[in-house]
Amino acid sequence: MTAFLRQPHHRYQDPLARIWIACAENVGFRIARSPDVYASTDGRGTILIGSDDLLDPDDSLAQMIFHELCHALVEGEAGEAQVDWGLDNTSNRHLWHEQACLRLQAYLSDSIGLRDFFAPTTDFRVKFWPALGDDPMAAPADKGGRREPSCVAARLAAWRASQPRWAPHLQAALAATAAVASVVPGYVRSDDAGEGGMPSLWGTAVPPPPLHPAGHAAVALYRPDNGCAGCAWSYAERQGIRCRHAPKVRIAPDAPACMRWEPAGELDCLTCGACCREAYQAVEISAREPVVRLHPELVIAAGNRRKLRRDGERCAALAGGHVPAESYACRIYEDRPRTCRDFARGSANCLDARRRVGVSL
Ligand code: SF4
Ligand code: SF4
Repeated sequence: MTAFLRQPHHRYQDPLARIWIACAENVGFRIARSPDVYASTDGRGTILIGSDDLLDPDDSLAQMIFHELCHALVEGEAGEAQVDWGLDNTSNRHLWHEQACLRLQAYLSDSIGLRDFFAPTTDFRVKFWPALGDDPMAAPADKGGRREPSCVAARLAAWRASQPRWAPHLQAALAATAAVASVVPGYVRSDDAGEGGMPSLWGTAVPPPPLHPAGHAAVALYRPDNGCAGCAWSYAERQGIRCRHAPKVRIAPDAPACMRWEPAGELDCLTCGACCREAYQAVEISAREPVVRLHPELVIAAGNRRKLRRDGERCAALAGGHVPAESYACRIYEDRPRTCRDFARGSANCLDARRRVGVSL
């Protein structure tokens, strides 16, 4: 009998791992494995994930990559250029950054029914993650509610996730993950406890939430006391209401809330100030506007044009908002330029400004 020495020509790859490695690569990162770290970044585009022997039974490479990508979204490009996203892992100084990452992770995994499946691997899985409510972008009221810093940072990260560098790849990875999760649990046996008597993590997958009539996933905010009619982003029309996020679609007044629901009362300029701060870079003004004559100290020349002076990332005329409960105010409200007068609260530009600073989703 002739003996054959078989030479493999391919290697097996876990489907979810492949999906999330590709997602990371498509947004500009390289995934490497290491026996020396659990998870780390080098500030030059490499995300190091611990080798399989370092992972717990309920860890998946996909989840760990997804988690690091959520960190990248929270920390932005400045964090990407630093080791470990610039986070101090030796103290609680940056705890709220980790919490923001987890809020975003929960928000995105909710959209495909995999909040439990994509639970984080660290000790945050014990307390913080299970305590996240239906709306992971809101802290308990006594901890600051929707304005708590990790909630604001998570919403800002969600806005980054909607931008062209990220959106197509992240959405494709989430959709591919949802496709895998739609079939695998059907092959998992509830009596099939593996090593250590543990059931399969796939048993935690639930069907993705239905699409909202306006086109957004509905997720857990689908509550009778929480509907489009009470949302800051709905507006009335003769035959129903529409949502500023999807203005082409008419929705019923009793439509349930989507994952972007925001209390109508929060559409408040005094607690927002987004359009006067870092959401936009400049307010251009014409030479004939009263503010030029009445407040020359606030006006600077920009070639043939003029614009309002900035004070860091804010318009120099903006007062307040230096501590969490302090209202914003315009020092020159009666004399404000036309650009500011024309900027309508609740408009698409207002929504865009609020998303850019993490006030809205
Ligand atoms: S953002 Fe608000 S109005 Fe728009 S679909 Fe969601 S809950 Fe409804
Ligand atoms: S972004 Fe909208 S709500 Fe916020 S201050 Fe400007 S107009 Fe007001």
